[in-house]
Amino acid sequence: MRKYVIMGVQGSGKGTQGALLAHDFDLTMISVGDIFRWHVQNHTKIGAQVRRIMAAGELVGDDLVEAVVRDRLGQHDWNYGFVVDGFPRNRRQAEFFLETYDIDGVIQLRLPDEEVHRRVLARRLCAGCGMDYNLIAHSPKIADRCDVCGGRLVSREDDTPEALASRLHDYHTKTNPVLELFANKEFVFTVDARPDKITVQQEIRAQLGLPAYQA
Ligand SMILES: [Zn+2]
Repeated sequence: MRKYVIMGVQGSGKGTQGALLAHDFDLTMISVGDIFRWHVQNHTKIGAQVRRIMAAGELVGDDLVEAVVRDRLGQHDWNYGFVVDGFPRNRRQAEFFLETYDIDGVIQLRLPDEEVHRRVLARRLCAGCGMDYNLIAHSPKIADRCDVCGGRLVSREDDTPEALASRLHDYHTKTNPVLELFANKEFVFTVDARPDKITVQQEIRAQLGLPAYQA
């Protein structure tokens, strides 16, 4: 059984890296963001709660996140282990998590703030069909036009440099105590998130002592 936590700022590719790892080793990917999106789309009670919180311009609280993760892990459909993304959020949750689940490692994807800015501020969204673009990794054939529907590409409202700087500040403030706790137990494997996604995946596997990725 392999049990990992993956941590990294927005734009660090942790969803992609977690999924690559989970796929090859039959691990269950548990992404807090995906779970909440599922609840919202399926109009559950939790989904309604999340909608209210977001409508008020607030962030989903640590307690609700914890409840959702406990519930998800309680389903025990992870025979070979799991990769958790988006949890723990604070020191108390990290302690609970370590004691209850006997975690094998915490993968920390490290991306300098300037690179986060470069990546996140390159994101575009089609105003017509909602398709995602990224001017670095996935640029449209014609500038500012959607390949699919020809719609205009726009930035997300919350992708301004100021909003991003504030999100990054919040992220570091919240995450540093968690990382410190994990680091004290010598669980943290830090990987440079700047190279291409295969290189990053190989480095993760090398550090965790897992067989290399084969395309
Ligand atoms: Zn479009």
